Amino acid sequence: MRLTVLGSSASYADAGRACAGYLVRCGSTSVLFDCGNGVIANLSRVLEPTALDAVFITHEHIDHFADIYALQAALRYAPSGPAPSLPLYVPVGLFAKMGAVLGTTGRAELAEAFDVHEIEEGVPLHVGALTVAAYRVDHVEPTYALCAMCDGSRLVYTSDTRAGAAARAASAGAGLLVADATLPDEYAGRSAHMTATEAGQLAHDCGARSLVLTHLWPSVDRVKALADAARAFGGPVTVAQELEEISIGEEE
Ligand SMILES: [Zn+2]
Ligand SMILES: [Zn+2]
Repeated sequence: MRLTVLGSSASYADAGRACAGYLVRCGSTSVLFDCGNGVIANLSRVLEPTALDAVFITHEHIDHFADIYALQAALRYAPSGPAPSLPLYVPVGLFAKMGAVLGTTGRAELAEAFDVHEIEEGVPLHVGALTVAAYRVDHVEPTYALCAMCDGSRLVYTSDTRAGAAARAASAGAGLLVADATLPDEYAGRSAHMTATEAGQLAHDCGARSLVLTHLWPSVDRVKALADAARAFGGPVTVAQELEEISIGEEE
């Protein structure tokens, strides 16, 4: 299984970065986890958008789906003609909210571009060679962490979440944990996100083999975040970088 980070910024994109987006590949299967602002430009460096097999959106915050409109245009105006509807998995009610900012034609085009399904917690979905399962975490209701399984490897993307029991349950058994590390220490507990220390503690508690910190505010010191998480985890940690590719499985 391979993870390509498409966006590592939280809320708004730092210079040269994008908001939440992760390309997960297993064999010839390609799935996109979240589609925040700037994600489609980065996706297009590594994969034709028409080659995606499915898209999952974890929750209704704009930095996780703003580029769904760009993806719709990329599918509609593909060089070989309009692409078939792309499976899109969203929390209940989110697709209607996406359409609410569009006119009648725009809503119809959005509905044509995607084959929409509501996410059901804990129900494994088979997308080609990948299996994906979603678990509730503690953020805006509802928000889902996503677990991708391929050839015995397990990647968990926490999406946005507070530290606590829900994040631990969602992350259980993770080989690679891609964790929300939005907050500088002075914001700890004041917002429904984790600090880097909390992300490191989560990786430790769930027995992850390695940790990738992501969803960092542009104002967060990435060097300090890495050191804080490494201290709490005691295992290998990196900070997500746009277009970085991480292999999961072969090295475990
Ligand atoms: Zn977010
Ligand atoms: Zn959020």
